[in-house]
Amino acid sequence: MLLKTISGISHALKKKEFSCVELTKIYLSRIKTLNPALNAFITITEETALNDAHQADQRIALGSATPLTGIPIAHKDMFCTQGIKTSCGSKMLDNFISPYDATVVQKLKEAGAVLLGKTNMDEFSMGSSNEHSFYGPVRNPWNLEAVPGGSSGGSAAVVAARLTLAATGADAGGSIRQPAAFTNVTGLKPTYGRVSRYGMIAFASSFDQGGTLTRSAEDAAMLLNVIAGMDPKDSTSSNQPVPDFTQTLNATLKKVRIGLPKEFFTDPLDPKIADLVLTAAQTLEKMGATLHDLSLPHTPLTIPTYHILSSVECASNLARYDGIRFGHCCEHPKDIDDWYERSRAEGFGLEVKHRILMGTYLSSKEGYEDFYIKAQKVRRLIANDYIETFKKVDLILSPTTPTTAFKIGSKPNRVAMYLSDLLTASANLAGLPSLSIPCGFLDNMPVGLLLTGKPFDEARLLNVAHQYQRNADWHRRLPKEFS
Ligand code: GLN
Repeated sequence: MLLKTISGISHALKKKEFSCVELTKIYLSRIKTLNPALNAFITITEETALNDAHQADQRIALGSATPLTGIPIAHKDMFCTQGIKTSCGSKMLDNFISPYDATVVQKLKEAGAVLLGKTNMDEFSMGSSNEHSFYGPVRNPWNLEAVPGGSSGGSAAVVAARLTLAATGADAGGSIRQPAAFTNVTGLKPTYGRVSRYGMIAFASSFDQGGTLTRSAEDAAMLLNVIAGMDPKDSTSSNQPVPDFTQTLNATLKKVRIGLPKEFFTDPLDPKIADLVLTAAQTLEKMGATLHDLSLPHTPLTIPTYHILSSVECASNLARYDGIRFGHCCEHPKDIDDWYERSRAEGFGLEVKHRILMGTYLSSKEGYEDFYIKAQKVRRLIANDYIETFKKVDLILSPTTPTTAFKIGSKPNRVAMYLSDLLTASANLAGLPSLSIPCGFLDNMPVGLLLTGKPFDEARLLNVAHQYQRNADWHRRLPKEFS
């Protein structure tokens, strides 16, 4: 049962091979036994899960089930969940019980998915390793000494360790795809605007995009079918029609043009990762796709541009946590300034404070022209590189990360950590859909392959990924202690 993907489980539930309650109990008991080693959940919602499962069984009996009815899922703890703690990995929101559901949460609830819990994450989605959580680091199921990536590291770890069938995540610079690559799961960041941000606790509003961590591209398509679409509550959500993403999974790869940008295959990329990714590209070539070398010349500017812009947005978004309107409140404030200062000093962790300070400076009179405006212009150049490139190819293929998962505590400084997003953040700068899938192992640690597509062309990414997964079994491999 634990080896099945969403479509397999959905089928079995409908054939009454087992009930949703039985399935949910199996996952809850796995969580109880195995989560302590991983620290991947902040909240386990046992009661909600069993209630959801009962309802799902009734729905199946009545014949009104959707493909996701009875499917166990987990939400990254930045999605607001009504009546359930939503901490965003921060002391600031440690006692926040959300009064409403995020649109993504609501849609999955309506489809009948079963909520097992809320996953651990880097505080306010800032980080690449999950070491910046108020609730302690998450561990990688492939090696408990290693990070699972971040900021959606909890979601990646619980999917990899089979503590849930699927999980939601959010990606502003790589936070779905980098942890997916580090843990051998499939991570999809849809096009900016494809999925509503309503009820997702904001880090950097022009970058944040909700998406999925799953065992396969097919599972990702099934989830995207439910969570995608225009939402009147999010003015940046798009009214582009939402196709049935499962319908095109088996389209032929003949004549699909895949671009390999040279800037994504150079230093500091581990050459052994490049070899594995190129081998996967050849597999796609054998299936009919054509490979094209190309250049995205502004790629080297990705990290500084991303950090300037996202820090400015973060400083603005996080200003609301003043201990009065939102967030942790200090004890016995002397006056209003003391109230703000101590509530924020106590509520935020170091990385978040660093970014708020940076963002405040970069958007100040001194920093605005030299940094913020310049970075906006570079963002346009990076997006233009992609627009030009997509006249010649249908999608772009690269490694997801320059290295495999690193040891907890091993990054010597902030800049070294930021380089983890070197290959993922440009898709956020350009607002493009991007998907990481497993493509091999290096010293027993998973390696990810990144596919980035034209705006709103998730269907093509999922199609190519699904065809690859029919021919390769990397995504089916399990970490030993969790199999
Ligand atoms: N790791 C990146 C950062 O720290 C990306 C975070 C994200 O995608 N939310 O900013």
